[in-house]
Amino acid sequence: MTKLIYELSRPGKRTYIPVKKENISSKFPHELLPSKFIRKKKAYLPEVSELEVVRHFTNISQLNVGVDTNFYPLGSCTMKYNPKISEYITQDSQFKDIHPYYPEKFSQGALEILYETASYLEKISGMDKVTFQPAAGAHGELTSLLVIRAYHTANGNPRKKVIVPDSAHGTNPASSALAGYEVIEVRSNEKGMVDCDHLRELMDEDVAAIMLTNPNTLGIFEQNIKKIADLAHEYGALLHYDGANLNAILGRVRPGDMGFDTIQFNLHKTFATPHGGGGPGSGPIGVKSHLVKFLPVPHVEKKKGGAYFLNYDYPESIGKVRAFYGNFLVVLKAYIYLRILGERGIFETSAGAVLNANYLLGLIKDKFDLPYNERYMHEFVVSTKRYKDKGIKALDVAKRLIDYGFHPPTIYFPLIVKEDLMIEPTETEDREVIEAFADALNSIAEEIDKDPDLLKEAPHVTPVGRLDEVWAAKHLILRYEKTEN
Ligand SMILES: *Cc1c(COP(=O)(O)O)cnc(C)c1O
Repeated sequence: MTKLIYELSRPGKRTYIPVKKENISSKFPHELLPSKFIRKKKAYLPEVSELEVVRHFTNISQLNVGVDTNFYPLGSCTMKYNPKISEYITQDSQFKDIHPYYPEKFSQGALEILYETASYLEKISGMDKVTFQPAAGAHGELTSLLVIRAYHTANGNPRKKVIVPDSAHGTNPASSALAGYEVIEVRSNEKGMVDCDHLRELMDEDVAAIMLTNPNTLGIFEQNIKKIADLAHEYGALLHYDGANLNAILGRVRPGDMGFDTIQFNLHKTFATPHGGGGPGSGPIGVKSHLVKFLPVPHVEKKKGGAYFLNYDYPESIGKVRAFYGNFLVVLKAYIYLRILGERGIFETSAGAVLNANYLLGLIKDKFDLPYNERYMHEFVVSTKRYKDKGIKALDVAKRLIDYGFHPPTIYFPLIVKEDLMIEPTETEDREVIEAFADALNSIAEEIDKDPDLLKEAPHVTPVGRLDEVWAAKHLILRYEKTEN
């Protein structure tokens, strides 16, 4: 168990002392501080040697798990490797230190990057206009729904309902509710796709939008997408594409061609920004031409002579959903990534993602249940149902994977599959890694037969064992509380 630095504290231990006390007080004379801010009691700080500090922080830094240290097949999240060159370039002060209030004539380069990246995303998605304002995927969903609401309102009636499938990501119903809509759930059929008969029953003129991701959260492509789009449009409803799974179809099919009216991208999933741990994301949205006038302002546009400018002149715009123009450095990373890949590379990305997922599925499918016998795209869902008699749940398999050195996949999502593991290897992993992961899962399946307790008590190699994760997330302890004297 890793100690807290306060627990290492021993009176009198010191690190390097940089300046003499007299010099500190002459440099920062006490009088400059109003007396109410001066401590009455000495601060309680750990007393430790320099070497202890270095070891302590080096050791805890190594407790982190990330794509840079381990295979991280978290389904729906696309935890792929993010090329270091984009990190390197974004750290250049010409990008990093640019201020959003710089006059347009001094920020032409940055505006060009926003403009160009938008045009790449428009091409990839088949949409007419992209904005970078939303801060992440869920925020992009909300912004899309606000645009949809503005569209219906302009047509005389904002409408009342948004339809989402029972396999949807939790953010879909949440964004719909935040946008003021009632959430209606459409069932999935035995193939894991939208039940079109049920959808038809649910449709009426109060439906503002249908939200779908395609391939859906099971990793299955909605084959009836054209039919669904036609049905939505027949009732005057719009179709929103949750772009979290875009990695599967990059450069092959376009949501715009499938009949979607709006899309949100997750640049931090598909386009090379590290995520997890709450770092900055970016959730641009793209819309078809009939919705452009409702997008948040400003739009980055190009004058005839070639100069870029920020256009606020959209009187029907929903306004602003975030300060300035979006998370610029995340957009820049996407730009670099797209420029490195080029059209061919983008096309190969989705091929690799789908191939890796299907190769992995082929290696483990004898030991786990496959709830849908369909063709999978970039991710798939298997279940541990057959091990229920031994008292083993998906959670136990996930925890045991940690002992084998792998980050567990997503579990218990989508909600329509019981005891499921949702696995997305991504295109950035080698065949050797996929095989090692399959070996681990297959060994764990054998352990269930021989020694199920090994799983129930897992993980065994971490500083702390089985946690009550919900409790821990709701009662975060981020600060050391001194207990004695
Ligand atoms: C991740 C995800 C989202 C939400 O995106 P964030 O950027 O995390 O807000 C929405 N839908 C699906 C299917 C996702 O996987």
